[in-house]
Amino acid sequence: MSITVRAAAKINLHLGVGRAREDGFHPLDTVYQAIGIHDDLTLSGADGLSLVTHVADHIDPAAVPDGPDNIVLRAARLLAEHAGREAAGAFEVRKDIPVAGGMAGGSADAAAALVACDRWWDLRTSDDDLLALAAQLGSDIPFSLVGGTARGVGRGELVSPVEDPASWWWVAVPATEGLSTPAVYRHFDALHPDAPEAPASAEPLLAALATGEPLRLARALHNDLQEPAIDLRPELGDLIARGEAEGALRGLVSGSGPTVVFLCDSADGARETAVGLAGAGHDVVLTATGPVAGAHVLA
Ligand code: ATP
Repeated sequence: MSITVRAAAKINLHLGVGRAREDGFHPLDTVYQAIGIHDDLTLSGADGLSLVTHVADHIDPAAVPDGPDNIVLRAARLLAEHAGREAAGAFEVRKDIPVAGGMAGGSADAAAALVACDRWWDLRTSDDDLLALAAQLGSDIPFSLVGGTARGVGRGELVSPVEDPASWWWVAVPATEGLSTPAVYRHFDALHPDAPEAPASAEPLLAALATGEPLRLARALHNDLQEPAIDLRPELGDLIARGEAEGALRGLVSGSGPTVVFLCDSADGARETAVGLAGAGHDVVLTATGPVAGAHVLA
């Protein structure tokens, strides 16, 4: 007997970043979208806590912590503590989401662990409590629970669903080596010591999204972390230019990077862009649609 929960990667269609607050966090106005690149987590009964991770070919297994620091085990311990019970179970994670790629791979695993443990331990935790526990673990984790397309404010943890009537085609190119999210934020601070307190509003993006028109969305995509990410990894700028030359409507660094995502006008457009990028020497080119569901039970 076991339970399997699937959780999706996220991209940020809009990521407005304000000046760092006193607590060190940056105020965000962001629009997340869950796209069809997934990690699957299986939980079965055991006396203690254990974790085995299997990774896709494009992921370096050494990049995923295998000890108590793994966010899957942290999520399990936090929920057990909240419920006043012992944390026990054997976790098996199959990762397809790039690690340290700006796609919230760890957050997806944490959300999957919360859902799996809640069901497996029959806790029936309220949605509000689950979202609060998720926010304690990391800013992107509430969105990984909710999925779809949602606006995130605060430090990104306060999420609300937004109107998104279309299905969008994306091509994602992960980098071999991850980029540390705190390092990208530090570089943002260095480049913009006078950044406004209030992050750039997501309203224009939301208006474009509601039209369902790929060209409108392409023009509205916005990421304040793109400049620092490209400054740290100049090859990301070349990759964006290449994907756009291969037919994508627009390339964008995903969150803090280094994954680059390309919005395409159709399934054919995504295939052409993916083939073009593979021909240009990019070994790993993933195609996905969004929005997709948040963390949910598969079996
Ligand atoms: P975000 O987009 O939320 O900023 P990210 O996609 O850039 O995150 P993650 O893949 O979530 O980055 O990983 C960030 C770090 O978290 C990794 O470098 C790794 O050390 C640690 N980590 C802990 N648990 C996991 C996990 N289950 N999967 C991946 N990384 C994990």
